[in-house]
Amino acid sequence: MTFTFVTLFSNLIEGYFHDSILKRAMEKNLFSVKYLNPRDFSTNKHSKVDDTAFGGGAGMVMNPQPLFDALDSLREEDENVHIVFMTPVAKPFVQNDAKRLAKKSHVAFVSGRYEGIDERVIEKYADEVFSIGDYILTGGELASLVVCDAVSRNIEGVLGNSASLEVESFETPLLEAPSFSKPKLYEALGVPSEYLKGNHSKIRSLKLALSESKTKFFRPQELKKHKATQKLS
Ligand code: SAM
Repeated sequence: MTFTFVTLFSNLIEGYFHDSILKRAMEKNLFSVKYLNPRDFSTNKHSKVDDTAFGGGAGMVMNPQPLFDALDSLREEDENVHIVFMTPVAKPFVQNDAKRLAKKSHVAFVSGRYEGIDERVIEKYADEVFSIGDYILTGGELASLVVCDAVSRNIEGVLGNSASLEVESFETPLLEAPSFSKPKLYEALGVPSEYLKGNHSKIRSLKLALSESKTKFFRPQELKKHKATQKLS
């Protein structure tokens, strides 16, 4: 699996892969990361990549030419590359998207900057567009990293224990039950006693009840979905 970040600012991204789980996964060749800078493709004598917007409006817009040429070169190199644009106006990225994208051989993330990207680039090259939430970031690099991180932990072998994927929140309508670690008592705050007794069937029942109450609090609609599927089965 290859991830390509199409960005003017690869240095904002690189450090994230220098440590922890994703670094180890790259060392095991489970995926690799490449960078493509649209500025390297600019035919402007000053390597400009942006200009004022037609129709007025504040701020600059990323020009088509450097991005068209960068993305053509990417597609020439690998016709199977799946090109994803990050934009706040798109459908929100969710866990199912992460699982689906983890099965691709090559995903490229295109990061906008300034006031965004000339719409013609998105229309011509986007296989998919995602938002990471209803707020505006200064650029797409953080959004691309968020999506890449969520995708990469669904690549076989990236997580030491793949069982941890199965019980996580968003795998089912229920959110994951609360977790606790040592010590049993910290600043007078204890751990639910059933967690400590080793009776796995009782622990499972308690975790289910806690999952339900957490979901009821944070995602009441999802709890309704869970109850409806239980009635059907
Ligand atoms: N003018 C745009 C608008 O109002 O929709 C916002 C542009 S934003 C300042 C610059 C770039 O950051 C975007 O092209 C996109 O790549 C990225 N970006 C900002 N917020 C984002 C979000 N919530 N999700 C995904 N990408 C985002």
